[in-house]
Amino acid sequence: MGPAPRGYPCRFCAAPVTTVVCDLGMSPLCESFLTAEQLNQMEPFYPLRADVCERCWLVQLERYVAPEAIFTEYAYFSSYSDSWVRHARDYTEMAAERFRLGRDSLVVELASNDGYLLQHFVARGVPVLGVEPARNVAAAATERGVPTLTRFFGEELAAELAAEGRGADLIVANNVLAQVPDLNDFVAGMRRLLKPGGTVTVEFPHLVRLMEGNQFDTIYHEHFSYFSLGTARRVFAGHGLELFDVEELPTHGGSLRLYARHVGGDGRSPSPRVGELAAREAAAGMETLVPYLRFGERVAETKRRLLEFLVEAKRAGASVAGYGAPGKGNTLLNYCGIRGDFLDYTVDRNPYKHGRFTPGTHIPIHPPERLAETRPDYILILPWNLKDEIIAQLAYAREWGARFVVPIPEVTVHGEQPLAVSGTHAGDDRGGAA
Ligand SMILES: [Zn+2]
Repeated sequence: MGPAPRGYPCRFCAAPVTTVVCDLGMSPLCESFLTAEQLNQMEPFYPLRADVCERCWLVQLERYVAPEAIFTEYAYFSSYSDSWVRHARDYTEMAAERFRLGRDSLVVELASNDGYLLQHFVARGVPVLGVEPARNVAAAATERGVPTLTRFFGEELAAELAAEGRGADLIVANNVLAQVPDLNDFVAGMRRLLKPGGTVTVEFPHLVRLMEGNQFDTIYHEHFSYFSLGTARRVFAGHGLELFDVEELPTHGGSLRLYARHVGGDGRSPSPRVGELAAREAAAGMETLVPYLRFGERVAETKRRLLEFLVEAKRAGASVAGYGAPGKGNTLLNYCGIRGDFLDYTVDRNPYKHGRFTPGTHIPIHPPERLAETRPDYILILPWNLKDEIIAQLAYAREWGARFVVPIPEVTVHGEQPLAVSGTHAGDDRGGAA
């Protein structure tokens, strides 16, 4: 993987980190969508390289960018994904019953985004507090009746809330642990805010699934840390919290939901699922270098395969448009060098992105209606984790014979006809019919 970095202290255990897992080159911040006026200006690019700590096995990015530069204006509104909104509602029902939450409880969500989840607790009469550093999405939450602090969470904020007599019966931290610049401060804050007998649930993409599924595009500057169960358990234990249950979820390409409580908790023994998953991770070699190094090589091969497909499609005169402009799409486009020469445009349901351009690659982003107007031959689905939902939404594109291309874990083409491009090996090996 090229020369080892000079080493820097691990975000959790402070041991020197010197082992490269995967080097995605230089990339802009993946949520920095550009306006037309910004296209002629300089754009900051930062190294995008994932490393692994050989002491605690935390996969992490070196600190390249100040967190304030990333999280104060964030383009991702959780409410634009139907399946994610459903996921949040199901979670709320489960948690309210399992932890007997009512009018005297307090649910605190860290990185509460636009209130997509807490709104369901509000509807049940359970008091809530959102914490969300991105001003624009926090404002959307407040508008829908979810009280929200525009702050970064850590021990300082937890202490302030404790001084006001506010402790949490349930702390929800979905898809934020990876994005926390000071991991130890964040987890220490959760312990401080958690009432005795309270529960923390955290969800994050499971590193094992990320590597098995070749989901390298979920590596971006906003994601500082990538966790296995084993590493997460170590981090929580380091701050007086113990895991008592774990669930494997299909979200974001395969996530874990961990349940944690104060060490000693209520004396009940943890679910056997914790030990079972830990054993499976050990069997996969997650505390050896083998899977990490294998992953890096597979990433490079995926780039070669995707470019091979695009080169052949364009040579055959086909038009290719994108669907979605997610953060992960920008890692993929920048790493692979896919610009207007391969992709005419992309579309997204989020109006914030309309009229803007993808960072680094400057691909224009239009509303989804654009697809029916231009009838592209191929639609490259960038949020591959939602591919079933998207292919169903875009069923109308089959009328003009469009085929759907999913880049991850391998390039696959969904559609009725074989690939009509020049070259000797275009066709069957590109994946089956949808
Ligand atoms: Zn470490």
